[in-house]
Amino acid sequence: MFESLSDRLTGTLKDLRGKGRLSGADIDATCREIRLALLEADVALPVVRSFIAKIKERAKGAEVSGALNPAQQVVKIVNEELVGILGGETRRIQFAKNPPTVIMLAGLQGSGKTTLAGKLAKWLTGQGHTPLLVACDLQRPGAVSQLKIVGERAGAAVFAPHPGTSIGGGDNELGQSAADPVEVARQGIAEARAKQHDVVIVDTAGRLGIDEELMGQAAGIRDAVQPDEILFVLDAMTGQDAVHTAEAFQAGVGFTGVVLTKLDGDARGGAALSVREITGRPIMFASTGEKLEDFDVFHPDRMASRILGMGDVLSLIEQAEQVFDAKQAEAAAHKIGSGQLTLEDFLEQMMAVRKMGPIGNLLGMLPGAGQMKDALANVDEKQLDRVQAIIRGMTPAEREDPKIINASRRLRIANGSGVKVSDVNQLVDRFFEARKMMSAMAGRMGMPGARANQR
Ligand code: GDP
Repeated sequence: MFESLSDRLTGTLKDLRGKGRLSGADIDATCREIRLALLEADVALPVVRSFIAKIKERAKGAEVSGALNPAQQVVKIVNEELVGILGGETRRIQFAKNPPTVIMLAGLQGSGKTTLAGKLAKWLTGQGHTPLLVACDLQRPGAVSQLKIVGERAGAAVFAPHPGTSIGGGDNELGQSAADPVEVARQGIAEARAKQHDVVIVDTAGRLGIDEELMGQAAGIRDAVQPDEILFVLDAMTGQDAVHTAEAFQAGVGFTGVVLTKLDGDARGGAALSVREITGRPIMFASTGEKLEDFDVFHPDRMASRILGMGDVLSLIEQAEQVFDAKQAEAAAHKIGSGQLTLEDFLEQMMAVRKMGPIGNLLGMLPGAGQMKDALANVDEKQLDRVQAIIRGMTPAEREDPKIINASRRLRIANGSGVKVSDVNQLVDRFFEARKMMSAMAGRMGMPGARANQR
């Protein structure tokens, strides 16, 4: 799902990595790539336009956070805007104060309404509700028996017109097509009240294309049952047509939320990314397969990070923002550049990183870190604890200027922090080495404050 969109966006954003600064031209080029990726994924043009305009404006305004480099900044902006067009907050079902809560399903034939009815019923049952499924799709041969099967699997009751008693008569599915779906819907609600079902799910008929009669019938059912929620069921594979279908249903019946189905297929993303912006209605559920379990509440934030294919990088960015103090980080960078890093700075930075969780986990979040990941998975947290303990055993003066740590001080520090003198020696020696190396590196990279006055 969304693979090529995801690949393209990830590729584009990866190209920004390693850039210390982003020029206006970099941002323009990135936005051009994102635009192409979205268009190729069949995202509706007005949605693409407003999306790109927002990214551009925000990237150029560069809300500098200090904890993030410019490329991370852009990833963050793109992610936030993706979450935005997917609807922002997760939207839950609004249950009626006076049960039963009536949920009506609308959508084209084959979009997955009947399957969804079963999924919803199962999901609601799992949450302690007692849903009743009402079969108002009397158009499609087999729809009623399909709903009965689905209901049985979901462990939910199904209300369907009884053969022979339905208006217009008939004792088979085709005969039932003469029954009045509006009347069946009404009876279904009465049944739910009588049998104390707290939710009613009304399955309605769809056509292969939009037509007046279909809309008229759906509107009739809507007026008869006064639904609390009307869910528009949209096949995510429908590409460009999705927008037209959604608009037609919005005008013809209206709906309070959208359910995207067939997200397990190779949908390009257009329907998902357009429907909310075009209709102003939130995507509430996602269906990802034919089985009743293949269903979940739709979370815009999770979908966005899946599309960006950056999974946990985004949570890493979030955590970094929460944990790192921008000024402190900048000051440390200066000190590194000028070879003046102290053990106190080192301790602070180390603690900031460790606040984000075990080092192994942290690096597991980085995509494609490959070999580095393996090495880092072996980072010994105990060793880090030891380093922290040794530095804590030093006086402020020693941390500030480790050169004064002579043999007697080393002995005192070792005793105080419960380690061997050789451990203290090793730490101090390594610190000097690292400081020298980092300063030289900073000089080569043109970092602020870099000059050649290392010890
Ligand atoms: P309806 O005409 O709107 O009631 O659509 P159905 O519920 O009969 O679904 C049409 C077809 O799509 C059926 O074969 C379903 O098994 C299939 N289907 C429904 N939802 C999904 C889904 O999320 N993923 C996949 N792969 N197939 C689905």
